[in-house]
Amino acid sequence: MPTDLEQLVELQRVDLELARLNAQLAAIPKTIARIDAQLAAARKRVEEARAAIKAGETAKRQYEQEIQSLNEKILKFRGQSSSIKNNEQYKALLSEIAHAEGEIATFEEKILELMLNADSLQSQLHAAEAALKAESAEIELQKAAAEKAGEADRTAAAQAREQSQALRKGVDETLLATYDRILKSRGYAVAEVLEHRCTACQVMLRPQVLSNIRAAQEVVHCDSCGRMLYYLPEHNVKTSAANATGIAHQAEREWMFVPSMGSNGAFAVFINHKGNATMKAYDAVTGEAIARRVEKNAICRKIFAEEIRDARNLFVDESNLEDKYKEQLPPEVLDDLRHQLPKA
Ligand SMILES: [Zn+2]
Repeated sequence: MPTDLEQLVELQRVDLELARLNAQLAAIPKTIARIDAQLAAARKRVEEARAAIKAGETAKRQYEQEIQSLNEKILKFRGQSSSIKNNEQYKALLSEIAHAEGEIATFEEKILELMLNADSLQSQLHAAEAALKAESAEIELQKAAAEKAGEADRTAAAQAREQSQALRKGVDETLLATYDRILKSRGYAVAEVLEHRCTACQVMLRPQVLSNIRAAQEVVHCDSCGRMLYYLPEHNVKTSAANATGIAHQAEREWMFVPSMGSNGAFAVFINHKGNATMKAYDAVTGEAIARRVEKNAICRKIFAEEIRDARNLFVDESNLEDKYKEQLPPEVLDDLRHQLPKA
């Protein structure tokens, strides 16, 4: 993997963590507001119960005053009875008294009702007060926990920001701008290649794209989603092992087109295995095996530097191709390899 890309993978890990922390931090005031609202509701229930009790007491006092003034009125009526001249006046007086007594009875009934209601209001108040007390304790705990979590997130976010800044310094500016642009529009910018697919959009990659990524000379973008792609051989071991007809190949191998070999150029495989470097080449037109070299205690990139200099990477799915076709590559394989070459 190009070093810049490696840096970007790490930068993305840090940036995504930072985004997660920021989202978490942004949610904390909302959590606290919700907790506060819960407490306010419990407080309101207590206040409402108290207000209802108070209103009942006020009404009761009013009715008592009404009764008192009605009683005074009755006394006054009775005092007037000595000055009554005739039967008509007497009847009218009795009717006034009866009316006042009727009113008194109504008010007394209302007072009785209020007194009964006051008992239930009192128990409502007690329940609301108990709930408030319990909730206050619980809510204080929740709030403290939210604030503590926020504190930890803030510290972690500050560290991530620092780390992000430091990583950014090591990356080429143009590449960084591309990274930022894709990150902003697509959520993340760098995606791993697994089983020949871009893990971000799951689209199968073209052989040429795959071989460019493996060649790791430059940053390659996914044709479909535009993300920058990277490839970790250790994550793809399973696939190549599965392709090797049951034999897990620990060898590191690369297929390339070498224009300088043979009369038509050659498709060649370079294998580093157990300290030895092997190159096997096939004529690019006929598919005939034209060369095989094994160098002990060597690395292909060094020992075959001349061949590799002008070579371009190819994507070969089958890892034991050269074992399977020792003398000649079959037409379908040749076709596939030729398709990966740019049109002349
Ligand atoms: Zn993609």
